[in-house]
Amino acid sequence: MTPFERPDRRCPKCEHNRYMFRARRTIDGKPDEGKFVETKYRCQSCSHDWWERIPAPPEMRKTDTSGAA
Ligand SMILES: [Zn+2]
Repeated sequence: MTPFERPDRRCPKCEHNRYMFRARRTIDGKPDEGKFVETKYRCQSCSHDWWERIPAPPEMRKTDTSGAA
């Protein structure tokens, strides 16, 4: 039950496979794409930060800004 994690994720700079979770944010894509979730990671080897973008899960897509949450 960890749809945001992929076991083969590696640092895009040095390809080290150890990394730390740094941040997560939801962004709006194109109208036909819906929302995306971007997750920020930091490589434990070279300290490079990077964002990964994946489609938001369905329960987040239907949560529109139709008032106070
Ligand atoms: Zn690295």
